[in-house]
Formats: sequence, structure tokens, C-alpha cells
Amino acid sequence: MTNTIAIVGGGISGTLTVLNLIKQSKSPFHIIWFDAKNQFCKGLAYSTTDEQHLLNVRASNMSIFVDEPNHYVNWLTHNYPQYSSHDFAPRKLFGEYVQATFDVLKNTNPFITIQQIAEEVIDIEKKENTFEITTTQTYKAQKVVIALGNFLPAHPRSVSKEFIESENYFQNAFHPTIIEKAIIKKNITIIGSGLTMIDVLISLHHHSFSGKINIISPHAYIPQAHAENALPSVKPFIEENKLYRLQELLSLVNQQLKKAKTEHLNPQSVIDVMRPHLPFFWINFSLNEKQQFLRHLRHKWGVARHRAPSESMAILKKLESSHIIHLIKGRLVDIKSMDGGFEIHFSDSK
Ligand SMILES: Cc1cc2nc3c(=O)[nH]c(=O)nc-3n(C[C@H](O)[C@H](O)[C@H](O)COP(=O)(O)OP(=O)(O)OC[C@H]3O[C@@H](n4cnc5c(N)ncnc54)[C@H](O)[C@@H]3O)c2cc1C
Repeated sequence: MTNTIAIVGGGISGTLTVLNLIKQSKSPFHIIWFDAKNQFCKGLAYSTTDEQHLLNVRASNMSIFVDEPNHYVNWLTHNYPQYSSHDFAPRKLFGEYVQATFDVLKNTNPFITIQQIAEEVIDIEKKENTFEITTTQTYKAQKVVIALGNFLPAHPRSVSKEFIESENYFQNAFHPTIIEKAIIKKNITIIGSGLTMIDVLISLHHHSFSGKINIISPHAYIPQAHAENALPSVKPFIEENKLYRLQELLSLVNQQLKKAKTEHLNPQSVIDVMRPHLPFFWINFSLNEKQQFLRHLRHKWGVARHRAPSESMAILKKLESSHIIHLIKGRLVDIKSMDGGFEIHFSDSK
């Protein structure tokens, strides 16, 4: 009997599982690949059609194959010669690249057959030797990979049902109709000030939004821009396979940041040097260390790690200088619906 593997999720995680199975498998099996939104190969991040939504990583670091570091740059420069390895290319082109790679590889391994099902998986049940996966029909598989991506953010706490059901509230910042609905408003509030906020600002700017935008977040940190004409990088300072404790890593990072400052090195490279080791660190942290990190360091880490291209940050600066955006440091307390809009209450963050 041919083994069957079910992969739930068509984003990059699901796609890379499929591609690596195609590249490496030496025994016959069948893949059933599900995606609720028919976003195979692209997922949420790379399904955008807005050309101004850029990758937040330079092309040189976006290959999908560890053993072929130039795989993406070669595809990009062949198909879109206006871009180079140094650029932050539009995310939609990255989606096109992953799709093209899948199209090239999908029939290359005679051991593998692939069935794509554009439906939501609503249940997975373990039976004696198989799993039963339910959409509108039921499928059987011996193995299941779950690659669902991030869920939508929770609704803000202590808000009314009326607010949650309002057509002027968007829980999903990437909802396909958000821009066309938002563009006609005079006043918009964005809760959160990370990369998703930047995407929303860029789309509004691109559609010539001329109202006011309030941005509320507890620390009012905004992403850093990737440094242009970067100074030399710090030298690698992480020992391979060492089990670092959180406290130890924190002092190492602070020490490297000081060194970068005194020796005129690129401080952002302190984070870049750690990048390949991050999954190993995280897996080996204790539960207590993970909780400490999420409670005290997540926001600072977020701005240092998730940087935005300088082109994107230039749009934010432009909107700031024309007083279109107003960044508020505060914690949301309550949102009341009134006069066709909302009254937002927040407390000053300390
Ligand atoms: C706006 C944005 C920009 C980003 N930019 C970058 C970048 O420039 N560079 C970078 O390295 N990373 C970037 N990221 C990080 C990005 O999240 C990851 O790189 C990656 O795309 C995540 O892929 P994923 O497959 O885990 O999740 P997703 O892309 O979210 O894919 C999950 C898929 O699962 C499907 N699904 C969910 N539930 C079910 C179900 N029950 N049944 C069937 N299907 C289901 C969904 O339809 C979705 O297509 C960005 C993320 C976002 C949100």
C-alpha cells in the first residue's frame, strides 16, 4: 500500500514540506495537500497583489533551499532583471517564485503523487493506523503535517459585541476589502505598530488616503529600517550547538552591541549573526525562559529582528511629517461605538 501524508496549509511552511519531500523521497507515497483559501505556494504573506508590499529581507537571504543560497536571486534576476540580490523585492514576486519552483518540481519524482484540495480542514481524528482528515469529505493518511500559519489576532479585550460585529472593525488587517472600505473614512485607528501596521499604511498611502491615522501600541515602538550602506558586520559570536540560557544570551547581545558601538560596526548585524541559531535557542529554552522572553523582551526583540526596508520606512516618515499619522503610546482600555464611529479609551503606558 502506498503511504499517504496529509499536509494542512498551503503557505511557505506547507510548500517547503512538499518541495523537500519531492526532492528527497526515495519510496512511493501520495501527498494530499489542503489549503482553506486556495493560497497554495503563497500563503498569507505572499498572496498580496500590492507591488509596494516588499519583502522585509534582502533577496540574497530569501532562497527557499538551504543548499542553494542563490536559488531565489537567480530566479529573480532572470525574470525581473531590474532587481539585484541587495534589493527588497515585492512580496508578490516571491510568491510567484515559490509557485514557479513548485511547478518545475512537482512531476520530477516518480515516487510521488500530489493531490491539492482547496478546502478548510475542520477535523483530524486519530484512528488505529491512520488519521481521518475532514473537509466536506473525509480523507485518510498515515501521517499529517499541520502548517496553519498564524491565527488572526484576538479581539481587543473588554469590547462590546456591537463593536466586534461592526463593519468598521477589521480583525484581519489583510482582508481583501479593507483598503476600499477604509479609504473613504476620515479617521482610522490601527491597534499595533509592527510590520502589519506598515503594510496597512503603505496600502492607504498608495490609494491616496488623506484622513488621519492614529496608531496605538503599549510601547509605541515601530520597526527599524534596514541600514543602508551598512558598516562592517560584527564577527560571529555564537558557539555552535551550545545550550545558551536566556540570561546568558541577553548579556552576550548587550556586550556585542557595546562592542559594535565602540568599534563602529553595524549594530543590526548582532541580530543577523544570531538568525540561523534562533530556532535552536528557542527549542532549548525552559518554559520559564520562554515566558520571561515573551513578557519582557518580545517587543524590543520584535523591532530589532523584524526590520522594514528603508523604502517602506520612508513612506511612514512622509505620513508622519504631513501629520497624517499620530503614534500613541498607550494600552487599550475600551472601545465604544458612537455616531457611526468609535470612541477609543486608552491608558498611558508606563
Ligand atoms: C504581512 C507579512 C509579511 C511577511 N514578510 C516576510 C518577509 O518579507 N520575509 C520573511 O522571511 N518572512 C516574512 N513574513 C513571515 C511569514 O509569516 C513567513 O515567512 C511565512 O510566510 C509563514 O508561512 P506559513 O506557511 O507558516 O503560514 P501562512 O503563510 O499563513 O500559511 C498558512 C496557510 O494555511 C492555510 N490554513 C489555515 N488553516 C487551515 C485549515 N484549517 N485547513 C486548510 N488550510 C488552512 C491558510 O489558508 C494559509 O494559506 C511575513 C509575514 C506576514 C504576515
